[in-house]
Amino acid sequence: MIQDIFPHKWDIAYYPKEPKADSFILFFYQDQLLVIKEAAEEQHLPKIIYPVYAKVKHWVRNATYLFSLDEKEMFRVEILDESTKQELEGSIAGSCFEERRFFRTAAPKEYGFAGITGLHLNGWYRKNKFCGACGKPLENDQKERMLYCPACKNMVFPRINPAVIVGVTDGSRLLLTKYRGRDYKNYALVAGFTEIGESFEETVAREVLEETGLTVKNIRYYKSQPWAFADDILAGYFCEVEGNAEITMDPGELSVAEWVEREDIEVEYDDTSLTNEMICYFKYGKGTLR
Ligand SMILES: [Zn+2]
Repeated sequence: MIQDIFPHKWDIAYYPKEPKADSFILFFYQDQLLVIKEAAEEQHLPKIIYPVYAKVKHWVRNATYLFSLDEKEMFRVEILDESTKQELEGSIAGSCFEERRFFRTAAPKEYGFAGITGLHLNGWYRKNKFCGACGKPLENDQKERMLYCPACKNMVFPRINPAVIVGVTDGSRLLLTKYRGRDYKNYALVAGFTEIGESFEETVAREVLEETGLTVKNIRYYKSQPWAFADDILAGYFCEVEGNAEITMDPGELSVAEWVEREDIEVEYDDTSLTNEMICYFKYGKGTLR
């Protein structure tokens, strides 16, 4: 999956650090991140290289520490206006700003993951400059990744939307879906957000019932995945249909919901999404994913 970057060393913990001469600076403009592209030898994928601090020192004010990758410390700098954005792009050869979807297939993989995680964090920082309770400016906490209101003591933690991905099985059949009105046209699994006051297992049962009319049993946890493309944390579950396997699709959510026999599932392992891994896991079995 996209977050599986071992043996690269990833440290997401927050420390109140200042950039040094060998730090990496991630420049964000709205919901885009500056990358420097090199032609790749294989697969025609662009390579990402982040600019080092020394080259761009005069732009680095109010840099916020994000995370480290292979001991390289990475910082966030927000570009606020179009003219500075253009000046920055013009001053670094081969650079341009890219949106989140670019990072799904960007190479090398560990930089793609750092990029999309940076965009998730950037979105949270960008949309939480003022306290939602009293309207005063928020400040970075010194101990953990949290924004703090000195006026009313409000604490704002990073926004991560919890959601489930559900593989519903009926013997040798898997329930595959397609979502209505989305760019993503491949087969998906039943999925949905967890409500306040609900466990993941309850989300699984509710979403399957709402989207397909099916009742499920034997709900088992599979794996989880940070999915920064939508600010999510995804929890994957398998379960079995209980009783009547006839689907009553919710046409407001889905365009397709159908049982597909294991041998008829058309899927290739892409090492990116939990959904893809779970469909491959059902089709090919454990130990065949790489
Ligand atoms: Zn406040």
